[in-house]
Amino acid sequence: MTNHLFDGLLADADRSARLASFEDRTDWTYGDLIDASGRMANALVALGVTPGDRVAVQVPKSIEAIALYLGCLRVGAVFLPLNTAYLADELTYFISDAGAAVFVCDPERAVELAPIANNENAVLVSLGAQGDGTLAKLASDNDCTFGNVARGPDDLAAILYTSGTTGRSKGAMQSHDNLLSNAKALVDLWQFTKSDVLFHALPIFHTHGLFVATNVVMLSGGSMIFLPGFSVDRAIAHLPKATSMMGVPTFYTRLLDDPRFTADLVAHMRVFISGSAPLLAETHLAFENLTGQRILERYGMSESGMITSNPYDAERRAGTVGFALPGVSIRICEEKTGKPVPAGEIGILETKGPNLFKGYWNMPEKTAEEHREDGFFITGDLAREDADGYVQIVGRSKDLIISGGYNIYPKEVELLLDEQDGVLETAVIGVPHADFGEGVVGVVVATDPALTADSLMAAIRDRIARFKQPKHIAFLPELPRNTMGKVQKNVLRDQFAGVFKPEI
Ligand code: AMP
Repeated sequence: MTNHLFDGLLADADRSARLASFEDRTDWTYGDLIDASGRMANALVALGVTPGDRVAVQVPKSIEAIALYLGCLRVGAVFLPLNTAYLADELTYFISDAGAAVFVCDPERAVELAPIANNENAVLVSLGAQGDGTLAKLASDNDCTFGNVARGPDDLAAILYTSGTTGRSKGAMQSHDNLLSNAKALVDLWQFTKSDVLFHALPIFHTHGLFVATNVVMLSGGSMIFLPGFSVDRAIAHLPKATSMMGVPTFYTRLLDDPRFTADLVAHMRVFISGSAPLLAETHLAFENLTGQRILERYGMSESGMITSNPYDAERRAGTVGFALPGVSIRICEEKTGKPVPAGEIGILETKGPNLFKGYWNMPEKTAEEHREDGFFITGDLAREDADGYVQIVGRSKDLIISGGYNIYPKEVELLLDEQDGVLETAVIGVPHADFGEGVVGVVVATDPALTADSLMAAIRDRIARFKQPKHIAFLPELPRNTMGKVQKNVLRDQFAGVFKPEI
């Protein structure tokens, strides 16, 4: 039986080749991963998982979590990774909306989260950072051989929840071929081979660390240095053994700020790749000045995987995300009419191709709204092509904030702030932040003059993931509005542009 994505990634794997090395564990070979995924598959079946079931997963980063992703593919289930920062209310929504059959959580949170799983009729098991937990135990009691469930190119492999502009997250459905076709295009374009060693410090609940980084490594037969997270110390320690690195712009700004990061340290590196948020042209240039290497910036999203990339062999242009990937179509159009804009002008980037998701889970109207009649997906990103056809992403029509590589939809934070006593209304914006790219600012109109930033922060601290919480709260007598009554966020962004600038 063929299982499109699992076979595509691993059917030709050399079982004895190294797949991953770690800080404090023994290396894993491809054989170790394939066997662990077989045990996970048997464990999932023992838990009652059947083809098409959703398996929601909020676990710390571990190689066993990758085995779980593969185990889900092998049983024909749909893998649903969740940001480790999500709190109880947020998790309830995802598990309920997806109708998850199983919820895999961090062993340390199993007691806290048991009532949620119970209410939603999901079986709760756990998987910890060291491959511990009840799911790990069940897997180790099971056999490593497993007869894969047949899955074709269009069958669902994963659901990635994006934040919704109205506060409701949408589950982007990824098919087996969405993921495989994208991984193949990236391996070819970025010239990954079995000699590659990827510095992997990204989280694996997001398309970047999971599908871009891990699928590319598995498909090329290379290996990765699989780290729990990013720090400059880790980069200094491990980059000498790596050939390639994928990171969010924050990784690169932090490296550039540390005197230990030198040209010598990375002279042997084959490629540095950046994405998930805009890499400032000045960061690109500073990196080149220091190391002599040009970062390769690419652009994509949960709905589509990767859409564009700078070339590997030709010029990697600062401030641009390059060209459409082979097989992927893009066009830049007027938002309202959908007509292509004249060359060089700004419009919304639209895309179509084998990478494009199958729609939003249980949201046919939203899916229809965000597609044109000819099947192109309206990304919501504002873009322009320069004279040589390099695409520049110039903004986001949906006011999305990206802080440290994570997406924050202002509406969700605004709704929560608005609920608090003494608050009349709020506007949440992102402004430049040297470390995170953008920092979240909450602008508040208060009815209670005694309300303070500290009391407001304390009120929301346990209600929403930390990365979404404002890093700065300002009070205004009223919000600036245009004649149509819409809040002018651009005015606020200008007004608060300097709040995170270091004092001189
Ligand atoms: P996500 O779905 O979390 O992957 O977020 C996707 C969004 O991140 C895109 O719609 C873009 O707004 C933004 N994004 C990703 N890569 C880049 C990039 N290289 N430059 C600018 N924005 C980016």
